[in-house]
Amino acid sequence: MTILVTGGAGYIGSHTCVELLQNGYDVIIADNFDNSSPDVPERIARITGKTPKVYAIDVSDGPALERVFTENAIDAVIHFAGLKAVGESCRIPLRYYRNNLDTTLTLLETMERHGCARIVFSSSATVYGPKNGCPYTEDMDTSATNPYGWTKVMIEQILRDYCAANSGFSAVLLRYFNPIGAHASGLLGDDPNGIPNNLMPYVARVAAGQLPKLTVFGNDYPTRDGTCLRDYLHVVDLAKGHLSALEYAAAHTGAEAFNLGTGDGVSVLELVHAFRKVNGVEVPYVIGDRRDGDLAEVYANPTRANDALHWRAEKSVDDMCRDAWHFIQTRVAEG
Ligand code: NAD
Ligand code: UDP
Repeated sequence: MTILVTGGAGYIGSHTCVELLQNGYDVIIADNFDNSSPDVPERIARITGKTPKVYAIDVSDGPALERVFTENAIDAVIHFAGLKAVGESCRIPLRYYRNNLDTTLTLLETMERHGCARIVFSSSATVYGPKNGCPYTEDMDTSATNPYGWTKVMIEQILRDYCAANSGFSAVLLRYFNPIGAHASGLLGDDPNGIPNNLMPYVARVAAGQLPKLTVFGNDYPTRDGTCLRDYLHVVDLAKGHLSALEYAAAHTGAEAFNLGTGDGVSVLELVHAFRKVNGVEVPYVIGDRRDGDLAEVYANPTRANDALHWRAEKSVDDMCRDAWHFIQTRVAEG
């Protein structure tokens, strides 16, 4: 079975390509490397012994995408390609709407022309918006507080509308919570350009001495230690969820959303302390102001994914910390 993975050179996409290749799928990556390195496919090949086919294209480029579908018999698509930085999306909203919506629309139109009727989409816990209480369940209303989040809400709606009009089509909407960690090989991980926005890559770079200290954004939230709770899950567990979603898509039609999370909230300080303890390193930090837009707690009820996808996050916070540290050490050693 041949799977087109848009954004397959990115953080979650690359780990998913590994799982796909290791489970007998043929993989085609379509990525413009806007936020990833062109050496990622070669790293995937080093891990799996199999080389994915790569198209260095913008997924919103219709003729280029048409060529991918003409040259290959694609059974299903996993659609990761998109821009994902919340703060940046507030500064340059049009770029986010243009990129995230155009890629999806172009993809769906091309899939339609070629009779490809299965898609797994990277949605996000951000679609639960600011009003729902945790744990989040998939039947809750969706909304957003920033352009990035709105693109996810809108794309979910586009996929629902498309499924309503096309009874044979299947769309699995995976709402990721907070993926962290890295591949155990140290060859793949979260490697953002510039100063990281997200907690784990920031912590790892502080521990490696590349940044002086972490600022913890607020310790006056109504949580057990005053810092925000998030549902961190290992990126390899998340990647495996996509294989479960592909199986689900093969057996069902229509659009359905699933939370991919552990169901547990872990605080910022708990994560920092776990990282220090597991890896035996210092992570200097100071307490700073709250970051605009942060919610006190975000965690999933993952029951639907556990039951219907037969998927469960298995790796621990310690595993996530160990693998994130191994990845950054490997990066440092590579120069
Ligand atoms: P990433 O930035 O590492 O990967 C996205 C990939 O898509 C990159 O390789 C980038 O070059 C590519 N891309 C972007 N626009 C493209 C375009 N127009 N054409 C071709 N390629 C394009 O991000 P990630 O963390 O792997 O996230 C993957 C998906 O999951 C994104 O849609 C993101 O919004 C979603 N998501 C991520 C998180 C998270 O915490 N990482 C959480 C929820 C949802
Ligand atoms: N966070 C922090 N310092 C940082 C980056 C993040 O204290 O330098 C906190 C942030 O306030 C949030 C948690 O870590 O409570 C997770 O943030 P991240 O940006 O990784 O994920 P998201 O906010 O999207 O859930």
